[in-house]
Amino acid sequence: MSFSDFLLDSRAKEITAEVRSIVKNNIDSEYLKAMDRDEVKFPREIYETYGKHNILGLRFPKEYGGRGLDWVSAVSAIAEIGVLGCACGCAYVMPDIVGEALTRFGTEEQKEKYLKPMLRGELVSAEALTEPRGGSDFFGATSKAEDKGDYFLVNGQKRFVVGAEGADFFLVYVRTNPDKNADPYKRISTLLIERSPGVEVSYLYGLMGSRGGGTGRLTFRNVKVPKENLVGGLHDGAMVFYDMMVPERLTSAAASIGGMRSMLEIAARYSDKRFAFGKKIRKFQAVNTMLAKGVTLMDASAGIVYQAAIAANINDPKMRRMVSEAKRFSTDSLWEVANLAMQILGGIGYTDVYPIEKALRDARLPQIWTGTNQIMDQLIQHEYYNEVLNMPESEQIRNIEGDAMNANEQDEKIFDDEGMWEVHE
Ligand SMILES: Cc1cc2nc3c(=O)[nH]c(=O)nc-3n(C[C@H](O)[C@H](O)[C@H](O)COP(=O)(O)OP(=O)(O)OC[C@H]3O[C@@H](n4cnc5c(N)ncnc54)[C@H](O)[C@@H]3O)c2cc1C
Repeated sequence: MSFSDFLLDSRAKEITAEVRSIVKNNIDSEYLKAMDRDEVKFPREIYETYGKHNILGLRFPKEYGGRGLDWVSAVSAIAEIGVLGCACGCAYVMPDIVGEALTRFGTEEQKEKYLKPMLRGELVSAEALTEPRGGSDFFGATSKAEDKGDYFLVNGQKRFVVGAEGADFFLVYVRTNPDKNADPYKRISTLLIERSPGVEVSYLYGLMGSRGGGTGRLTFRNVKVPKENLVGGLHDGAMVFYDMMVPERLTSAAASIGGMRSMLEIAARYSDKRFAFGKKIRKFQAVNTMLAKGVTLMDASAGIVYQAAIAANINDPKMRRMVSEAKRFSTDSLWEVANLAMQILGGIGYTDVYPIEKALRDARLPQIWTGTNQIMDQLIQHEYYNEVLNMPESEQIRNIEGDAMNANEQDEKIFDDEGMWEVHE
């Protein structure tokens, strides 16, 4: 029995059960604690476990090691992984994100050399977009790759890279078009850069949560990258970026559902056992309405995430808006649910006797990474204005404005402020 089971087809139900069993039986609790204590610097064993069970990159063709499943199945699997928290969730979805770039834009040689071993869990990838100068402004990337004939010479810095410590290769966005006036969409290229002496981990971050994933700053010093490691066309990094942002954001949204589930189940069981004033605390409305709110947020998140998954399956024109909404809504909900669950547990919820405090520390991150939720808002409103203002007549609803009692009062329908300022002065 799964939450939102009825949203899944039979294939998605099967993969959900399979991944749940792996999460239950093959991930050691002591290892997760060592990650949270920062004793594990990089969770290679976790990647290997996923790879061994053949659950990485489920959407990709079988010939490359995937299972050719659709987004609904992929999302249901990610929701199961989400109960393990951010760092293990990130380890699970990274091959999906980097694999998206490789399957869509990579050459056959790149798929052979990087995609296949990555989906077996033998080669670990990381993605490097964010720079010290800023992450939201992707097009402002300053790390650069100079064309030196048969190779690129790469210099620059990327920060907050999960797997800076530990990953075998990096998908890196670099500026290749030095022309100051170049169109932002024709400035950047995507390169596969292997760990090599010029690739330095210059700083490992002390993180609030999501620990053990090897998040650090990368410095590239005169790194020679063969031309065949270009993914997509020269200066076409923007196309790769737009495509990758679908799995990047939909996976964050999907994992949040699992995070909410784990915290709510702990809160429900706790409130059914804990007594205050002679009765179970779940009998207090102040407590059970917190639970009701949390469960509603979880189910609403599942609704919006699966809606976005279906849109992604069919590449619907509304897909980008749906994915941004799913990311924004379910990651905000995750944070809210973490706080509700902690409140239901009271003081003990704030301690490490229960895993809510760890889940709460993790929960803050998805609102920030893979594009902040403010950037999601920018995308949502932009897409929505475009849809509404360019909607063909056949798709428009009836003239609702005409149903207003005084709809014909044209003199009251003032839109421009021409001349207004003179009147008020
Ligand atoms: C633990 C962790 C792991 C990460 N993993 C990776 C990774 O593996 N690879 C990777 O490349 N990056 C990674 N990131 C980086 C993450 O994606 C960025 O932190 C994020 O995109 C925001 O960029 P920034 O931190 O530079 O903030 P800024 O871009 O400086 O933004 C600061 C604030 O300004 C707001 N803001 C900026 N521009 C706008 C705008 N146009 N409209 C409205 N508000 C705006 C933001 O919402 C934010 O509130 C990770 C970050 C963390 C903390």
